[in-house]
Amino acid sequence: MKKVEKNLREEIVNNCRKMNALGINQGTSGNISVRFEGRMLISPSAVPYDEMTADSIASMPLDDESGNWDGPMAPSTEWRFHHKLLRHRKEAEAVVHAHPTYCTTLAIARKPIPACHYMVAAFGGNDVKCSNYAKYGTEELSQHALEAMQKRMACLLANHGMIVIGESLAKAMWRAVELETIARQYYLSLLIGGPVLLNDAQIEETIQGFATYGAQSGGNKRRPPTRRKKTTG
Ligand code: 13P
Ligand code: ZN
Repeated sequence: MKKVEKNLREEIVNNCRKMNALGINQGTSGNISVRFEGRMLISPSAVPYDEMTADSIASMPLDDESGNWDGPMAPSTEWRFHHKLLRHRKEAEAVVHAHPTYCTTLAIARKPIPACHYMVAAFGGNDVKCSNYAKYGTEELSQHALEAMQKRMACLLANHGMIVIGESLAKAMWRAVELETIARQYYLSLLIGGPVLLNDAQIEETIQGFATYGAQSGGNKRRPPTRRKKTTG
């Protein structure tokens, strides 16, 4: 196995454990996939994260929707929506699914997250939608998820949890934490009279600001930092 594949597999295992340590998931409720050379590497189904190793990760061809997999263990039952998102969203290098408490509470109430905070822009627009309901692991659920994620980097899954995608696994994990944070803030604002929403122009100016935010730390690779001319005297 190539070193780069081994590293990606280890990243999946480490980030499954991290989801639980961060409190955005519990038990084996979540799953993680990454794109690798035309294949999808994905966490195995129902394996406690402490027992998961790089060798337990399943590998599936992205050009085959039949569910063929390689590995010692069957892939996550949610392989269908991971597969669909990696196939249809070329910008996605990783998919993270979890059942964080506040995202899931809103998803149970079928409440999408509106533009209650400028950070909603981190998910691509002025809201994060909630998908229609379908049983976990089904083709129907994967279609609902793809639809709810149109032009977005996240969605809530009705009566279930959430999904985020990222340009890297690190970016997807960052979004997962931000999504649970804004879900909690929105939930709490509903308890004190409801949010004052930002308008589309305010979200758009935030999206434009995000294009350069973090450039000096290397955190946002979309645009290189602009070099300033040294001035003397
Ligand atoms: P897996 O253990 O099969 O990944 O399933 C967990 C889950 O989140 C189902 O929705
Ligand atoms: Zn789930």
